[in-house]
Amino acid sequence: MNGNFRLGSLFGIPFYLNASWFLVLLLVTWTYGNGLATQFPDLIGIGPWFLGLGTAILLFGSVLAHELGHSLVAMQQGIEVKSITLFLFGGLASLEEESKTPIGAFAVAIAGPAVSILLWALLSYIGMMLPVGGPIAAVVGLLAIINLYLALFNMIPGLPLDGGNVLKAAVWKVTGNRYRGTRIAARAGQVVGGVAISSGILTISIWNVLIGWFLFQNAGRAFQSAKIQEELSRYTAADVVTEGYLVIGLNDSLRQLANQAIPYQGKVSSFLVVDEQGHLVGSVNLEDLNTVSTMQWPKVPVKEILQPTLSSPVVQSNQSLLDIVALLDKEKLQTIAVVKESGVLVGLLEKAAIRRLLQHSIAAA
Ligand SMILES: [Zn+2]
Repeated sequence: MNGNFRLGSLFGIPFYLNASWFLVLLLVTWTYGNGLATQFPDLIGIGPWFLGLGTAILLFGSVLAHELGHSLVAMQQGIEVKSITLFLFGGLASLEEESKTPIGAFAVAIAGPAVSILLWALLSYIGMMLPVGGPIAAVVGLLAIINLYLALFNMIPGLPLDGGNVLKAAVWKVTGNRYRGTRIAARAGQVVGGVAISSGILTISIWNVLIGWFLFQNAGRAFQSAKIQEELSRYTAADVVTEGYLVIGLNDSLRQLANQAIPYQGKVSSFLVVDEQGHLVGSVNLEDLNTVSTMQWPKVPVKEILQPTLSSPVVQSNQSLLDIVALLDKEKLQTIAVVKESGVLVGLLEKAAIRRLLQHSIAAA
């Protein structure tokens, strides 16, 4: 997301504020400060707005606590939390991966609302202890309600809301298919978004339209990504690898290498190298051809310019495309070498080939 400011980190999780959040800070400070000024004429000077700012910051603390709830449960399951970001519509904990089981997914989803409910109970209790009618009691009472609202709103059963993740976990548990869970919860999220947009138009509430649009868009994205992931999980590297592509033998001559490289001039910078048994032993940089005079090429074998250690990782031919796409994205690679269990090289897998497969299979579905 653009316009994020890093505030620091909590439990090792980098923590950001989106620029849009400052709009909320200003709005809450201003409107609530004004409210307090009318309600409590005894508050003098900037007192009401100072309390308004305090409320806004505690509101922010409440959203943060909610996101930390999700994050800490995810971390317990060994999932890395990349960041927590607070923005216009609330907070977002960005997780490296999903839970491995429906029960795990349910625990992560419910942890946020559970924290909000606890805060609501705690603040309500503190509110009861405070002298009735004072400005502090008013602030505590408001924060209690905000936390209750945070829990209830987030439990609406549609993605990207927590309730959507609970629904997804339930469908996953019942059907044994996580993608089906995501698809159903995402469709529910689109309905929720649609209802919010319609109600916003009917009641002329820009806020409802904005939130509805945000939910609708994100639910649509979740649906698409579940569909793609489900497709990817059906295939393995063996299905898209191009056999023998950009591969040269250890004892082949540099002349043969240069000949094979001609069609890829300017597009490809290296070839994979295999020994007589077909095992991957390293790679050659086409640039290194220039270190040997052209006259010598027919006599010099590829192993003279071999780079024995592969700089990029390799994958097994029976590995799921879902894992491979994640690896390609993480390592920012366009191609990856595919080997059999025996270590024999199958060939090179291109990201573009996966894209073509997806276009083909989703169009056919
Ligand atoms: Zn949540």
